[in-house]
Amino acid sequence: MSYEHVVSVSGGMDSATVLRYSDILGKTLAVNFTYGSKHNEYERECAVRLCQHFGIDLIRLDLSNVGKALKSNLLLSGGEIPEGHYEDENMKLTVVPGRNMIFTSILAGIAESNGAGKIFLGIHSGDHAIYPDCRPEFLIAMNDAVMAGTDNKVCLEAPFIYSDKESILRWGYEHGVPYEMTRTCYKHQPLACGKCGACQERLEAFRLIGKTDPVAYEEK
Ligand SMILES: [Zn+2]
Repeated sequence: MSYEHVVSVSGGMDSATVLRYSDILGKTLAVNFTYGSKHNEYERECAVRLCQHFGIDLIRLDLSNVGKALKSNLLLSGGEIPEGHYEDENMKLTVVPGRNMIFTSILAGIAESNGAGKIFLGIHSGDHAIYPDCRPEFLIAMNDAVMAGTDNKVCLEAPFIYSDKESILRWGYEHGVPYEMTRTCYKHQPLACGKCGACQERLEAFRLIGKTDPVAYEEK
């Protein structure tokens, strides 16, 4: 079996949208990473359901041991998930150092191994403030590294890099993304909390497009 694209699917709404984007354009192989985050076990179920829904093949990779060597409140080994707006200073506590860079390197190896020429990344403008490896300068530099490291067989594309959460959601609704199958909350609990930065950013995007978020919340 050969593929045209490789996409990392966490189970969150951005990755669900980019998964759909990639699948519309060509045969897609999805990859889900477990890296010891507090919300991994809930997100992962969503990744599996999304791939089943669209009939997309999924590889699940366990990087828990890599996660153990990193420091972040997002991880089971770290402190509490802060509450507040996504761009607040305290949300930097949830940054996992190099996460996107590490994932992209692995995706490049998987893409080349499966004959896929492109990796789609779900990064967007809302990530730029706190995640250095989600910014345009990272995308350009990492694309150069991936192309050089694969003999120009694989490149990167981030279709939503200049879009905000609201436009991603609009695009997704127009293209049949089942947001009821996604999970965004950072906390280690089955029900989304409604208070962490990830929940707040998601709820704000739904408000801005005039729709009700189909997932259940503890409080909102
Ligand atoms: Zn939350």
